[in-house]
Amino acid sequence: MLILISDAFDPGLPAKLKKYGDVTEDKNRLSEADIVLIRSKTKVTKDYIDSAPNLKMVIRGGVGLDNVDREYAKTKNIIVQNTAAASSIAVAELAFALMIALPNHVPVADKSMHEGQWLKKELKRTELYGKTLGILGLGRIGTELATRAKAFGMDVVAYDPFVSSSEAADMKSSMDEVLAAADYISLNMPLTDDTKGVINKKTLAKVKDGAYIFNTGRGKCVVEEDLVEALKSGKLGGYATDVWYSDPPENSALMSAPNVIMTPHIGASTKENLLRIGEIIDQQIGEFVKK
Ligand code: NAD
Repeated sequence: MLILISDAFDPGLPAKLKKYGDVTEDKNRLSEADIVLIRSKTKVTKDYIDSAPNLKMVIRGGVGLDNVDREYAKTKNIIVQNTAAASSIAVAELAFALMIALPNHVPVADKSMHEGQWLKKELKRTELYGKTLGILGLGRIGTELATRAKAFGMDVVAYDPFVSSSEAADMKSSMDEVLAAADYISLNMPLTDDTKGVINKKTLAKVKDGAYIFNTGRGKCVVEEDLVEALKSGKLGGYATDVWYSDPPENSALMSAPNVIMTPHIGASTKENLLRIGEIIDQQIGEFVKK
């Protein structure tokens, strides 16, 4: 059996998986691979699947499966799995890091100091304490974020069409209610037909003046041009994002917009999470070979 590790995982993973057969990181050996391990970079399209006649299993280290053509994989009897629970803490901590950094001007303050400036008077910060965090998508990551926000003295409201009550947040029955109530808005839903472009000109008109939006969900849940307009007009206080239309972004309007913090899709990339993902993949392959 050949296991192809196609994206970046914990460096110890190849050695861990040797017990199941050959392990390679050489993408040119796709046509021989029985199992392919991916994160978000490799796109498992119809053409990709057609180039891998031996393929029996695809494991996505992480949550989102929007880079896998699951319908086509099913027609070829290819098992597709993710490591859904592994990444929640890692992503929630990045969402929280962005939530602290943006209203506290941490990147601007740091950059200005490196440039020899002293912006003590100019940089007026905003506290999280007593503010309302609105979470769109109260799943694993959203719930971890809610718990952390409460520890900071925030009120937490949330909208999730599939969650009607939760101890972590005060559930609202519509997204609009959350947008109207929140000082800080966190996007933690998956990319679906319903969530694509859901943060747009029309919905941005419903947020509080000066609200901040944090996106560790998916880049395509927002219309970037509309966000940039809201940032330039001051309707939005700031936007922090880990996720993009494409990795890396090409010609993103956000690059030149004010009050934006950008990270290169590193939500799941903690050392601890990569180890957790490796352990889960080991179990998943172990169960697969037993059958
Ligand atoms: P999850 O499935 O536990 O939670 C997602 C929640 O979103 C679910 O409760 C679901 O009911 C809800 N939802 C679905 N449609 C919605 C809608 N229209 N409006 C509001 N909520 C909606 O998944 P999770 O583990 O919490 O991950 C959430 C998302 O985070 C993933 O789908 C992925 O896109 C993203 N993610 C990003 C990174 C990163 O590196 N930045 C890493 C992992 C996951």
